[in-house]
Amino acid sequence: MTVLGSTGSVGTQTLSLLEDRARFAIKALVAGRNAALLAQQARAHGAEWAVIADETQYQTLREALAGSAVRAAAGRQAVIEAAALAVDWTMAAITGAAGLAPTLAAIGASRAVALANKEALVCAGDVMLAAVAASGATLLPVDSEHNAVFQALADGNRASLEKIILTASGGPFRTASNAEMAAATPEAALRHPVWSMGAKISIDSATLMNKGLEVIEAARLFELDESRIEVLVHPQSVIHGMACFADGSVIAQLGSPDMRVPIAHALAWPARMATAAPRLDLAAIARLDFAPPDDARFPALALARAALRAGGGAPTLLNAANEVAVAAFLARRIGFLDIAALVARVMDRLGTPPAADLASVIALDAQARRLAETLIGAA
Ligand code: NDP
Repeated sequence: MTVLGSTGSVGTQTLSLLEDRARFAIKALVAGRNAALLAQQARAHGAEWAVIADETQYQTLREALAGSAVRAAAGRQAVIEAAALAVDWTMAAITGAAGLAPTLAAIGASRAVALANKEALVCAGDVMLAAVAASGATLLPVDSEHNAVFQALADGNRASLEKIILTASGGPFRTASNAEMAAATPEAALRHPVWSMGAKISIDSATLMNKGLEVIEAARLFELDESRIEVLVHPQSVIHGMACFADGSVIAQLGSPDMRVPIAHALAWPARMATAAPRLDLAAIARLDFAPPDDARFPALALARAALRAGGGAPTLLNAANEVAVAAFLARRIGFLDIAALVARVMDRLGTPPAADLASVIALDAQARRLAETLIGAA
C-alpha cells in the first residue's frame, strides 16, 4: 500500500486502519513538509520509502530516519516516482491540484486508487478518467458523499437511476448573515461544526465550494449530467449520500461523520473491515433535518455547477482560482466573501477554454492562478 498525503487528516486516519503489519505492507508514505511526522509514521509502519515534497526538509527527514531501514527521498519528482511504484492499493490524499501528477502516477501503478483528492478529478477530469480506462485501475471514492452513493449503487440497478443526492452539513456559517460572513476570520471559518478536516477543505466547506467540487467529482465518477446531482443541506451529517430510482425508491448510506468509515470501505472493498468509528445511535440523534442550499448566501455552489455545465477547462479554472483564494483568505489577504467573488471574476475573464490533455490542464491551472493573484494584488 502507498499513502499519498500521509501526514494530513485523511492520511493519518488511513494509517490508523493500516496498523496490522501482517496484513498491510507499506511501500511508500508521501507528505508535503512535515518531515518529523512522516519519519515517525514510516518507522511505525515499517514503510520502504518516506518521501517529502519540500526538498528543504530532506535533511530533517534523513536525520529522523537514521538507523532505520526506511529509504528517504525528496522533491516533486521523487513524489511522483514514489506514487509510480507498483502496489495493490493507494490512498490519494494530497490536497489540491498538487495531487494531480502523483495521483495520475498512482493510477498507472496501483491496482486500486482510493481517491480523496477531489481537486485532481475536478481540474483534470477527462485526463484522469482516460488514465483509469487505460490502466484498468479501480477508482474507489473516499469522499464520504461519493462513497455513500457508490454503496447505494451497488445493487446494480444503475439503468433505473434517476438522480443522486449529496448531503452537505452547511458548514460553520449555515445560519450566518451576509454581514457576519463578510467579517468572518479564518479561525471562525475553520471551526467546522461536524467534521475535523484539513484547512483547505474546511474553508471550502464554509463557502460550500466543497459541495460544488463534489458535484463535479460526482459527475465524473458516476457519469451523470449536472441536473441529476442534487445537493441537500443536512446539518447532522448522518446521511451522506442517496441514490433515487425510477420506482420511487431512495437508497441512502448512513453513518457517524467519521472518515474512517468511507476509508475502510475503500480499503476492504469489495469486502468490509471492522473500524473503531462510533456506531450510529439514531435514537440519541432523534431527528434529521434537511433544507435546500441557499445559493444567494453561498454562490460558490452555483459557480461550480456553471463550470460543470460549461465543460472544457472551466472546472480547471474554478479549482485553481479557488485554491489561490482560499490560501489568500487563510493569509488574511482577502475577506471570506471575496473567495467566491474572486473565483467568479477569474472564470468570467478566462471563459471556457479547451482542456483535453494534461499539458492544457497544467497551462490553464497556471493561468488562472496568475490572474487570481493579479486580481488580489490590484484590490
Ligand atoms: P490536509 O491538509 O490535512 O493534508 C494534506 C496532505 O497532503 C498532507 O499530508 C500534506 O503534507 C500533503 N501535501 C500537501 N502538498 C503536498 C505536495 N505538494 N506533495 C506531497 N504531499 C503534499 O488535507 P486533508 O487530509 O483534509 O484532505 C486531503 C484531500 O482529501 C483533499 O483533497 C480533501 O478535499 C480530501 N478530503 C478530505 C476529507 C477530510 O475529512 N479531511 C474528506 C473528504 C475529502 P504536509 O502536512 O506534510 O505538508
